[in-house]
Amino acid sequence: MRRLTLFVPFWIIAVTAVAANLRYAMEISVDANGEVLGQAMVSGLAPGDWPEAVFRLYPAALGADRLHVTDAWVEGASVTWESVEPTTVTVALAATAGQAFSVTLAFRGEVPEFVRAGGYGSYARSAHTVVLSQAYPILAPWDGSWIAHPVLPWGDAIVAEVAEYEVDLTAPEGWAVVAGGTEVEVAPGQYRIVGENLRELAIVLLRGYEVQTTSVGGVEVRSFYRAEHERAGRAALDVTAKAIAVFVNHLGPHPFSGLDVVAVPLRGVAGIEYPGLILAGETYYDRYPLDSLFFPMIFAHEVAHQWWYAEVGNDQVAEPWVDEALATYTSGLYFESQGRFPEILYYWESGYAGGRLRNKTAGITSPLWAFPGGEGYGGIVYSGGALFFHSLRERMGDEAFFGALRLYRDEFQWRLATGADLLRILSEESPVPLDDLLEAWLRP
Ligand SMILES: [Zn+2]
Repeated sequence: MRRLTLFVPFWIIAVTAVAANLRYAMEISVDANGEVLGQAMVSGLAPGDWPEAVFRLYPAALGADRLHVTDAWVEGASVTWESVEPTTVTVALAATAGQAFSVTLAFRGEVPEFVRAGGYGSYARSAHTVVLSQAYPILAPWDGSWIAHPVLPWGDAIVAEVAEYEVDLTAPEGWAVVAGGTEVEVAPGQYRIVGENLRELAIVLLRGYEVQTTSVGGVEVRSFYRAEHERAGRAALDVTAKAIAVFVNHLGPHPFSGLDVVAVPLRGVAGIEYPGLILAGETYYDRYPLDSLFFPMIFAHEVAHQWWYAEVGNDQVAEPWVDEALATYTSGLYFESQGRFPEILYYWESGYAGGRLRNKTAGITSPLWAFPGGEGYGGIVYSGGALFFHSLRERMGDEAFFGALRLYRDEFQWRLATGADLLRILSEESPVPLDDLLEAWLRP
């Protein structure tokens, strides 16, 4: 799969050089018809010589009118910019390695109605929701070249560095705002959203919602739902809080001071993770308490992504297993704490077998593009990957296995890790060789 290479310097500087310094200051207004108007000032230190900066507009994968750049400035002066394709914009920059840069982009978008939106519904509106995923230009990560994969219609498309966010948001009258950072209504319809170390900022506008809250180990958990879903909304809160407690026990502290769970219309996916925020498909709230295994699985899985994706990032397109397999295995720890591990193990085994029947060429560590149409993706990468981690845990023992995961977390906190990084730490921390397991599970 194509990787956009605009300029390759002869050295490579650790991506943390960007991560520690990246900052988004934005003004965004959203009206009741889903029209988005915004301006984003993205600043930081260039980790290499950057004749250009590459920004992604992920919602444009389903239509250029959904999000596009209308103007660009560098240090206050108007500059040229080019739309390489609807999701990728380059801005003339001329920054040298180590130099501070500041790019300001004006952007405009239209959030389609859910019924006509296509995709997962993560950039869509309904009578009671406006879901704004990746609703602003996002700087592509740099690891010696720009990481800018084409957007595929399945799996997660975003690859991004963590950043500090400050957003002034104008929402239409009568709507409440819930965001991945911390949101405060400073005047009627005017919200100030701030957050640190966010890999992206998800914003949801809600009308007529109810909320239940709880606190677990200093983490404030909020569950947002409509009145008709009160029991499911309470169950979502309960699973989320219990999962946080279990994961903290094995992996260390939750990465953020709060976590919001919001029921919204979604299709083709049961839940979506963002730093500090989880979207869950409303249809599963309709069916509650049916799906007694799958319903809690949604929340346990997305909570696990707070560690694997939000805190320790990875290239979700080239190596989706790095966060998905680990999040799936981590979700199993919640079921283990409930005395239900055999159920989840059976679910993974049947899922992996089914996935391999549907896609005979891809493996656990295959890139997203090895699963055309998403065929076999969940079964192989999520379930097969979870079984792989279970085999490592059984071989290494709990102390070494979870110790390795905590080390991996510490070493790659707020950075982008690779599968090789993860496997190296697991192998180094294992008291016994793992080579035969790696060979058996991960051989292409
Ligand atoms: Zn996931």
